[in-house]
Amino acid sequence: MKPFIPQLVYIEPNALDYPLGRELKEKFEQMDVEIRETTSHNQVRGIPGETDLQKYRNAKSTLVVGVRRTLKFDTSKPSAEYAIPLATGCMGHCHYCYLQTTLGSKPYIRAYVNLEEIFEQASKYIEERKPEVTRFEAACTSDIVGIDHLTHALKETIEFIGKTEYGRLRFVTKYHHVDHLLEAKHNGKTRFRFSVNSRYVIKNFEPGTSSFDERLEAARKVAAAGYPLGFIVAPIYRHQGWEEGYKELFERLKDSLDGVNLKELTFELIQHRFTKPAKNVIMKRYPKTKLEMDEEQRKYKWGRYGIGKYVYKTEEAEELETMIRGYISVYFPQAEVQYFT
Ligand code: SF4
Repeated sequence: MKPFIPQLVYIEPNALDYPLGRELKEKFEQMDVEIRETTSHNQVRGIPGETDLQKYRNAKSTLVVGVRRTLKFDTSKPSAEYAIPLATGCMGHCHYCYLQTTLGSKPYIRAYVNLEEIFEQASKYIEERKPEVTRFEAACTSDIVGIDHLTHALKETIEFIGKTEYGRLRFVTKYHHVDHLLEAKHNGKTRFRFSVNSRYVIKNFEPGTSSFDERLEAARKVAAAGYPLGFIVAPIYRHQGWEEGYKELFERLKDSLDGVNLKELTFELIQHRFTKPAKNVIMKRYPKTKLEMDEEQRKYKWGRYGIGKYVYKTEEAEELETMIRGYISVYFPQAEVQYFT
């Protein structure tokens, strides 16, 4: 998997007031990428394509360089107190991705350049909670590692959090382009997580992302660079032969991590879920998907804003949880399972 290069770049004029904005403009000029101006990263017009599907695909390779105006961070993540907004959108094409609906008609990728303001806000949150630790999740609305070779915003954030006493950073990725992050001064305060799954799920539902082997090679590198390492197994999905599929996943994980320091290894487990609006969007964008989304086979769980989600029925979910926790206790007895949801 080659590092992401946008086919088209939009820049907000205000973004050029910031060093990162100017740097990115120069970089894309040198790379000969077409650059256009947009008044706002929230209203990008003119992404090429004759059909909605073409526009969607082109949007996923369009990068918008903008200024983050809403500095209030989102809360209520299972893995962190706050979402730190460095980017929105992703070039991956995972069929099940929840960004399909949360980003609605704006699937293009936005990178924010006003890092100092974002860090100031983060410092306020840390200050409010201290001496409690404050965890920030950097991958709630994007796969930040996948674009960071271009912006280095994540690298700066890692170093910013590394200097705080009570701040922690975490993010998850399906990309392996981590080399520039290996030298970041993280001070052990950033947890680097990789998303992993059974062969079946990666092959059928995760086009446009790094392969399992590439992700694992990157995991070895970041562990060697002293980052606390974690894996998110998501979405845990009941495909035919899933018991064996997930067993094989943990066997391969174990083999690939041979010799790596796994003292602080963590796992997070998330079962597959979908909402009705997501199902409609997915069927339009990936009409041939094998992703099973039969409401009858699932349990309805009430959600925020009145949009409930369909998860596995209680017994099936319990079976998944027991089985996966069992594999972890066999292959990684020292690891902490942070949650199953
Ligand atoms: S890599 Fe992550 S953010 Fe990107 S499309 Fe896949 S699931 Fe969505």
